[in-house]
Amino acid sequence: MTTSTDLIVVGAGILGLATAFTAREKGMSVRVIDSADRPVGSSIQNFGHACFTGQADIIQGVAEDSRAGWLRAAQAVGFWAAESGTYIPAMTEVELQVLREFADHRGAGQVTLLSGAEVAAGVGNPGLAPVGGAHLPRDVRVDPREAAPALAGWLAGNGVDFEWNTQVTAVADGVVDTVRGPFAASQVVVCPGYRLMGLFPEMAERHGVRVCTLAMSLIERPARIPAGLGMLTGTSLTRYDGFTAMPSVAALRAELREREPELVGCIANLMVTGIGRGLLVGDSHAYSLSPEPFIDESIASLLLGRAGRLLGIGAPVVLQRWLGQYADSADTNLVLERPDGRTTVVVVTSGIGMTLSFGIAELALNGGNVAGF
Ligand SMILES: Cc1cc2nc3c(=O)[nH]c(=O)nc-3n(C[C@H](O)[C@H](O)[C@H](O)COP(=O)(O)OP(=O)(O)OC[C@H]3O[C@@H](n4cnc5c(N)ncnc54)[C@H](O)[C@@H]3O)c2cc1C
Repeated sequence: MTTSTDLIVVGAGILGLATAFTAREKGMSVRVIDSADRPVGSSIQNFGHACFTGQADIIQGVAEDSRAGWLRAAQAVGFWAAESGTYIPAMTEVELQVLREFADHRGAGQVTLLSGAEVAAGVGNPGLAPVGGAHLPRDVRVDPREAAPALAGWLAGNGVDFEWNTQVTAVADGVVDTVRGPFAASQVVVCPGYRLMGLFPEMAERHGVRVCTLAMSLIERPARIPAGLGMLTGTSLTRYDGFTAMPSVAALRAELREREPELVGCIANLMVTGIGRGLLVGDSHAYSLSPEPFIDESIASLLLGRAGRLLGIGAPVVLQRWLGQYADSADTNLVLERPDGRTTVVVVTSGIGMTLSFGIAELALNGGNVAGF
């Protein structure tokens, strides 16, 4: 058995890395173990959209902690984190009504209602004619292909030990068994993402953890569209728990079923974010324990067409396509369990793990939890 550390983190996705970063800030010695040779899971496949404001009221404290953690990490490591917020064009009166209700509920510090012209300018398409819209100024943008790898590199250069290419086979009572032998620690935080089933099958089954697959594209960004763009749309208002608590969301769901049956059919959350190389466009949602790898071209082109319409891009130049994967559960947004006195297991079971990562890292380390989330 190798020398014991204060903390072992299993999984070098954003949840594990945020936990390692936070533990290091607290002065703990840390070892990170991952079966891959670098971060390649959900944490590099996403929009890099830290959408704090759209999350449920009950998790706003964790979201605030997470925002502060993201900004501290970006400052320390030097990766891009833009406090550019999120624009939401309202294309119908019902969408605008949901945004009005949300603005009333959260207040001016979190939600700024905009005119149609203002939101069109915000997304870089003066030709768009929304009936109004909103800006969520607290939301933050990062580049998912940069943030987790840069954070891992910085941690490795600042005293955190990494065991890459090392599959973990079991975790209990401060001992982490791996294909390269056991490691010991006073405390272990396990962040395996959608591979929870491989380590804690009973826990995964109890929470109905499954894999969500999402059709994604990277397209060229016309210079008029801001590099730090974060844009949600009407379908997003029916997905994130902060918005779905608003009274007019039922009417919006009915309207979308009439107006956008194809988007509703593929469970779309139509959204676009900018990164240095281009625009990330998505996404659809499909659920399975063992998903197939195929991207349905009709869904990919539907999403590109609808995003292009909002951004005034007639013929998007596609640079990459991929099928993203994240852990999901129909029952809960967060699995946070302590199977023994030294082990904490954390999986965000919804597409919001980038947003909440640093706040959840704090919870994992301080013995906290969020009931009913
Ligand atoms: C297309 C897409 C879009 C998304 N958009 C957003 C968004 O805009 N905003 C947002 O907040 N969230 C978004 N998400 C969700 C977000 O990406 C995830 O919630 C988050 O990245 C989960 O991080 P993680 O560290 O738990 O998982 P991962 O990044 O998957 O990391 C888990 C790590 O654990 C390792 N591992 C697993 N099992 C073992 C084992 N037995 N032994 C050793 N290592 C192991 C894996 O190799 C992996 O490196 C999106 C996800 C996708 C796929």
